[in-house]
Amino acid sequence: MSEPPWHSTTGIAHMLLDVTEQWRPQTYYAFDLTTPDRPPLEGSQVFDAVVVGAGFAGISAALEFASSGMTVVVLEREHVAAGASGRNGGILLLSEGTHLADAEEVSAVDKALGATARELVELAEKHLIDIDLRRGTIRLAITGRQARALAATASSSGASGGARFLNREELREHIRSARYTGGLYERDNITLNPHKLLEGLASLAEERGAVVAESSEVTGVEPSAGGGVIVRTRDGEVRAQRLVVAAGTGTGSLLPSHRKLLVTAYSQIAVTEPIDEQLLDSVLPSWAATSEIATFSRYFRRLPDNRLLFGIGTLFDSIAGPGLEQRIRSELRDTFPELGDVPFQSAWEGDIASTVEETPLLDRVAPSAVLTSSNGVLASWNAGRIAARSTDPAYAAYDSLRTNKHTEWPLMGLPEQLLKTGAKALFRIRDRL
Ligand SMILES: Cc1cc2nc3c(=O)[nH]c(=O)nc-3n(C[C@H](O)[C@H](O)[C@H](O)COP(=O)(O)OP(=O)(O)OC[C@H]3O[C@@H](n4cnc5c(N)ncnc54)[C@H](O)[C@@H]3O)c2cc1C
Repeated sequence: MSEPPWHSTTGIAHMLLDVTEQWRPQTYYAFDLTTPDRPPLEGSQVFDAVVVGAGFAGISAALEFASSGMTVVVLEREHVAAGASGRNGGILLLSEGTHLADAEEVSAVDKALGATARELVELAEKHLIDIDLRRGTIRLAITGRQARALAATASSSGASGGARFLNREELREHIRSARYTGGLYERDNITLNPHKLLEGLASLAEERGAVVAESSEVTGVEPSAGGGVIVRTRDGEVRAQRLVVAAGTGTGSLLPSHRKLLVTAYSQIAVTEPIDEQLLDSVLPSWAATSEIATFSRYFRRLPDNRLLFGIGTLFDSIAGPGLEQRIRSELRDTFPELGDVPFQSAWEGDIASTVEETPLLDRVAPSAVLTSSNGVLASWNAGRIAARSTDPAYAAYDSLRTNKHTEWPLMGLPEQLLKTGAKALFRIRDRL
């Protein structure tokens, strides 16, 4: 993709009204990206495997199928990385176990994420994918309780390599915002351009024989007489023995049986125009990416050309549309008053499909068909590969995943709106404690 005609620095003008008549802002990551032409699926075709969705999970599954010598087609509603995978903060945390209570589980999850990060970095290096890789992140505490929790994490045996607590003064060497009481520096976490990475990985899957069909929304999935599946799009259909559904927030409409296992959460990002270097250095001298340890968390990092990427989270609420930039700007101004007026180059929203527990969802929906959805780039890449392997009904490791229980949403069958309002109020209180 070359620079699109709607690129402008003035808010609404760089929003694109797409064919579905929804506002779809262009992301910073996509501006200077060149992508191949990937025609839609047409007619009736036969493959060994079919994957729905070209995010990290879907491309990972496709690469797995192709690398094992199977023919595979990925059917993608829009384009590679159109979903959360091309719209995220690009901050890859290798120690995500914070959600889990069990120490053994935490260590297993963290090891798997570490291995996945190494694999992705190696693939990018070997195949010359330019991902703007950087190392080091800081988790940020707003309250005294959060700072104590980070200090405890730094001194615990399960702390990731190079983890170091920063008190308020030490933190000021990296970030100058009155909002923060402390931080946890983690040397091994990485940041990168997620869209460029995924585009490179999709090309790698294609080199190994995978077909990626864009503008190919899947409208129906049904079992076929021979034991496999028939997957239909508007202009074609695929017959295959194996199926992986990796459709993110599109999963529910495709597989209504699993709708209650995923909740949609929203996060928004703005990228500024280049900022005067002295001004940026005066508030954010560090290249370490940051994220607050709160439910309604803010995250930010420096980008090349002295730009700033600044993200926020609104949990259940989409704020897509003209108010998006204003909302991000008000949170930016609250964090860094000095940067409150810098123009935005781009601003966008993304949606995330998550289980209530925030653990990966892997479920067999037919003997050789598996659904996967995870929260996070590393977890999604990992789970995509496991999903592809699990389409072999004999894949033994799959059975251990079945013990991963998920709570149905809305909890206890309560009215969803009421539950969302209550949960938001509770999380807001917890964020301030
Ligand atoms: C704003 C934002 C910030 C984030 N920040 C981070 C971060 O810093 N670090 C991190 O690790 N994670 C982050 N995440 C989460 C991470 O991006 C996701 O968890 C991950 O990318 C999910 O990958 P996926 O492949 O499962 O889903 P997706 O990337 O959403 O892919 C699903 C694909 O399926 C397609 N699709 C849907 N329905 C159909 C259909 N019927 N037919 C065909 N195709 C269909 C969609 O178009 C989409 O391309 C963030 C997410 C967002 C939105």
